[in-house]
Parts: sequence; C-alpha cells; structure tokens
Amino acid sequence: MAYLLGKPDVSRNAALKHLTDITPKLGYSYAKERNFDRGPGCHDSVTTLSPWIRHRLLLEEEAVSAALNAHGSQAAEKFVQEVFWRTYWKGWLELRPSVWQDYEVARDHDLNDWNGDAGLARALSGQTGISCFDHWVAELKETHYLHNHARMWFASIWVFTLGLPWTLGADFFLQQLLDGDPASNTLSWRWVSGLQTPGKTYLARAENIQTFTEGRFYPDSQLATEAPTLDWSPAPMPSALTFPAPLQSGIPSILLLHDDDLCPETAPLPLDDIVGVALLNAADLRSTGQVAHDVSEFVAVGLRDAVQRLSNGPDMLTCDANPKTIAALAGRLGAQRIVYAHAPVGPVRDAIDDITGQLSKIDEARRLIMEVAIRKWDAGSWPYAAKGFFNFKKYIPSMIASLQQ
Ligand SMILES: Cc1cc2nc3c(=O)[nH]c(=O)nc-3n(C[C@H](O)[C@H](O)[C@H](O)COP(=O)(O)OP(=O)(O)OC[C@H]3O[C@@H](n4cnc5c(N)ncnc54)[C@H](O)[C@@H]3O)c2cc1C
Repeated sequence: MAYLLGKPDVSRNAALKHLTDITPKLGYSYAKERNFDRGPGCHDSVTTLSPWIRHRLLLEEEAVSAALNAHGSQAAEKFVQEVFWRTYWKGWLELRPSVWQDYEVARDHDLNDWNGDAGLARALSGQTGISCFDHWVAELKETHYLHNHARMWFASIWVFTLGLPWTLGADFFLQQLLDGDPASNTLSWRWVSGLQTPGKTYLARAENIQTFTEGRFYPDSQLATEAPTLDWSPAPMPSALTFPAPLQSGIPSILLLHDDDLCPETAPLPLDDIVGVALLNAADLRSTGQVAHDVSEFVAVGLRDAVQRLSNGPDMLTCDANPKTIAALAGRLGAQRIVYAHAPVGPVRDAIDDITGQLSKIDEARRLIMEVAIRKWDAGSWPYAAKGFFNFKKYIPSMIASLQQ
C-alpha cells in the first residue's frame, strides 16, 4: 500500500488503481480472510481503502460496484456489507447529532480529569507491557492505520484492561488515523464500551488475538476477563432528516472544498459555475490535541488533487477557508454564491457552520448565498439508519438498486 510505506500517495488515481488491483480478492476470499491481522506492510487480508473512502477520494459506490461486478452479490456480500457499515454509522450519527456534541463535552471533561495520569501516559506512549497493545500504538503512530480487528482489541484493552476513558482512546485514534472519522470512530468506541448496543460490550481475548495475529501475539493472563457495561443512557431518538433541493446552475460560484468530500467532479455540484475554490482543511479540528502531521498532510494533498481534476483546475484561483479571504476572492471573481458538498456531523460541518456565521457579518459577503449539495448515496441510505445495522442491512439490495437508477 503506497501511502503506508513512505510518502502517502493520496491521489484519486492512486485510489482507483488500488481498487482495481485488489478487486480480484473482494469475493469469498475477503469474507474468509478479513479477520486476520498480519501486521504492518502485510495487511493483505483487507483492502486498506479506508483513508481514500473516508475522504471520498474513492466513493462507496465505486468500491461496491467493483466488488459486485467482479464477484456477484453472493460472493461480494461481506465486502459490500462492510462498506455499508461506514454508510450506516454516518447515517446513525446524522440522525442523532447530539451524540457527537456529547462526545466532545465528555472528551474535554476526561482530558481535564486525566491530565498527567501515569497510566494514560504509558498507554499513549506504548509502554504498558502488553506487547500487542504497545505494538499497535507504535504501528498507529508510524503508519496511521490499524486493521479493524486490532482496533477492536485495542479499544477493549484500553477500556477494560487499562481502565481508561473511552473518549480519550477515541481522541487518540482521531489524532493518528488517516481515516479518522467522527461517525465510524465515535460509534465504534461506543460499541466496544457497551454504550451503542445496550448491554453488549466487546471483550478482547488472548486466544482470539493469538489466532487472528497468527501467533504474533498471545497476551496470556494480561487481559481483563470481564467487560462490564459502562454507565449507559439511551441514545436520543432519531431526528427527521431534510435534504436540500438540487442546485440551480448559471450562478458564478466559489466551491468550498473540504476533507469530507474530495471528489467534487462526481458530486451534484454546478461545476460549470465554479470560478474559484476555497480550501477547507479541517483535519486539525478532529481533536483539541495534536493531530499527526501526516493526517493533515493527507487532506492537504487530497485538496490539491481535487482542484487539479476540475476542468480548469490548473488555472483555478484558490484561497484558504478564512471567511475574509473567501469574501475577497468572491468579490474579485464576481461570485454570487458558495457551493459545497454536504459534510456529515463532525468537525467539518462545525467549521462550515462557523464560516457561514462569520460571512454573514462581513459587509461585502452578505450578498453571497451558501448552497449545499447532497449525494444520492447519502440521501438514499441515511434514513434507513434509524435502528440497528441488522435492520439497515435488509435494505442494502434495494438501496443499491435505487442508487444505480
Ligand atoms: C474502535 C474502532 C475505531 C474505528 N475508527 C474508524 C475511523 O476513525 N475511521 C474509519 O474509517 N473506520 C474506523 N473503524 C472501522 C474499521 O476498523 C475501518 O474502517 C477499517 O479497519 C478500515 O480498513 P480497511 O479499509 O482495510 O477495511 P476493509 O476490511 O478492507 O473494509 C473495506 C471498507 O469497508 C468500510 N468498513 C469496513 N469495516 C468497517 C467498520 N467496522 N465501520 C465502518 N466502515 C467499515 C471501510 O470504508 C473500509 O475501507 C473503527 C473501528 C473500530 C473498532
């Protein structure tokens, strides 16, 4: 995988090539192999597509179509379902935005309460003496990726063996993962901790780690033997989702490009109207702590790659996403509106809300209208995420059929 071995190859072309290369193994072999974690440089049991998919340098529908076309719906079922886990988590959080806000509040509380704690410092520096855990800390800091099974074991050991707050583990992941994602990360940590599915926690077991790391690790007698549910409160009721109408064309526009959608050419945006681009890199806002340089660099390169792919990309004038510079660029280019692809609940959405608020206070920007475009994939799937994944997955075939229309 190019981006884990040296400098990241962030481009959409690299993502499409990687998808083509791995498509032959997206059938039954993925289903059989996917739980094995063979370690850094050997993650051949899974696809390692997530950094691209998370930023929409590669689309969920592209990964799903490649698997279905090559293997058919039965053999590709497991892979397709895994991609839909991402869609499901995004929809679930979109229906309950307060869960993200509550996470941020709890994280800040825990950061304060645990400041200077020696056990937390040992965990964050990979010096717990549990060799698998210490290895994953090092792998995460070096490659900014972990296999799904390692993420589950890591989170379980963090919460139940080391007794650390789940919010600080989730925060550490968001600082380090190239695919760090508010929905998949927060809700997976909640799931391990027993906050997502009432009464169900995830306990990492030494034998399971030994089997699925093929004997690389066997933390015999080092792990908690029980995973009691943390204090649980019911998730908020799902709110109603409203989606924006398709954007009209014919209005000179600034494109606000951001980490959550780096593929503007496939979004329902009025591309012919784009006269300039504002680049919003919100990677550093994933945490109040230090987000790894490679993570924000991944987004920075992805933003540049996206601009280059626009029809007049090489000549396109760009600016950063500071409201004053956006207003100045819009004035200079005669833009009357700012358009952007919908950003799901999380730091990018918060940053866009902030920019919108600040623009309304700048005299020369007051005439600018902000318009958002929603992808068919999101609008067609998120409403089904009100309940559990097992309910959601019943609709996968009909979602795919309607998305292909
Ligand atoms: C504690 C914890 C934290 C996590 N944090 C994140 C995160 O911040 N960002 C993130 O993208 N994923 C997160 N995941 C989900 C999952 O681990 C990763 O998506 C997956 O490991 C990515 O590697 P891959 O592309 O090789 O996966 P593959 O097994 O090859 O799966 C193919 C694609 O399906 C999707 N996918 C697979 N499993 C999941 C899943 N459980 N949830 C959501 N999507 C999935 C991804 O888009 C992935 O690229 C987390 C899981 C856990 C247990």
